[in-house]
Amino acid sequence: MSVLEDARAVDAVGGVCDACLGRVFADRSFGLTNRERGRALRTTIGLEDDEPPASVEPADCWVCEGHCGAFDAWAERAAEAVEGVEFGTYQVGTRPPALIEENERMLREDAGLDADAGEPFKSEFNREVGKRVGRLTGTEVDFERPDVQFLLDLGDDEVEAKVNSAFVYGRYRKLVRDIPQTKWPCSACKGSGRQGREPCEECDGLGYRYPESVEQLTAPVVEDVMDGVGATFHGAGREDVDALMLGTGRPFVIEIEEPRRRTVDTDRLQSDINAFAEGKVEVEGLRLATHDMVERVKRHDASKRYSAQVAFEEAVDAEAFAEALAELDGTTIEQETPNRVDHRRASKVRTRDVYEIEGDLEDSHTATVEVHGAGGLYIKELISGDEGRTNPSLAGLLGIGAEVTALDVLRVDGESEPFENAAFFRD
Ligand SMILES: [Zn+2]
Ligand SMILES: [Zn+2]
Repeated sequence: MSVLEDARAVDAVGGVCDACLGRVFADRSFGLTNRERGRALRTTIGLEDDEPPASVEPADCWVCEGHCGAFDAWAERAAEAVEGVEFGTYQVGTRPPALIEENERMLREDAGLDADAGEPFKSEFNREVGKRVGRLTGTEVDFERPDVQFLLDLGDDEVEAKVNSAFVYGRYRKLVRDIPQTKWPCSACKGSGRQGREPCEECDGLGYRYPESVEQLTAPVVEDVMDGVGATFHGAGREDVDALMLGTGRPFVIEIEEPRRRTVDTDRLQSDINAFAEGKVEVEGLRLATHDMVERVKRHDASKRYSAQVAFEEAVDAEAFAEALAELDGTTIEQETPNRVDHRRASKVRTRDVYEIEGDLEDSHTATVEVHGAGGLYIKELISGDEGRTNPSLAGLLGIGAEVTALDVLRVDGESEPFENAAFFRD
């Protein structure tokens, strides 16, 4: 059968609008809408038969029940649903009533065609409304990860608009000790701040074990500027609560839920955060990032450089100290899960490399040691030996007890390449 014969068969079913007729031949001739396609087929049939071409308004069409005449109205409703929301990309999805899908099958069956000839109603609706949304809002369609996702529920006569999160990447320094990276809910009151009717004694009613965190000193500013409804802090690993994060800082991403603004001046945001954090935390290198930056920050292998203050139980000889460091330099360390780490975690031995280690004895009982090691190397245990659970260790090689009294992280660097990669930025 030729296209024209098939079109005659569909037309003969009767009561079908141009779009619903054209949709059966959607895989023929690009660059036309289904409505234009249907109109053209009817015009050709009319010319062959020397008759006026048939015409059925969408409102009178039994297949789409008028929906093919409502693209503009749905697009306007979609645009209204996100009024006041800044976005650059969108995607439109349609949930058609079951009846329309059934009508589509019946039409093809009655015309003697394949049940899936052409394209589904849903695809046309997504595309036609989508084009109009783009024109109305000056934005672009994105099938991967749009800023806004519309769902047109034709049966319930509803437009749902989901505003996806926005992301800001940066690096932070933590300049005071005893601040965790993220909110740490109080275990006594499970974050409620109350025990029965009384304020929780454990946390003074705060609900948190520590009153501040890097997250609480940074994320609220971003949430405020982007006018969102929630924020999540994602860090590239985390330092101990009592460790400082210095040098070039640690990569992080702040995720803002349902932002009404997503193109913000990151230089200004940076100074706003730094003013808010009052010198306890500093951020730098802020950039607008993609959704994928969250996984990158969490999964990208990174080496760390640390500075440790070390106290020895007995006097240490300078030569022995230098020899022990030389022994550790470039060595692979075997570490059992440290005693101080969550005891519910199964104990296992893992190996991590010390890339570089150097140190200075300040006096016979104290030293500063700088270590550059693979991600996951436990530094406190590298120094103390953790009762024989880490091998080799500085204490083990010296045969003298050693303990880290202060630990600072100086650098967090991607192993294979830097965290900052153009593919993960929006600006
Ligand atoms: Zn129709
Ligand atoms: Zn509490």
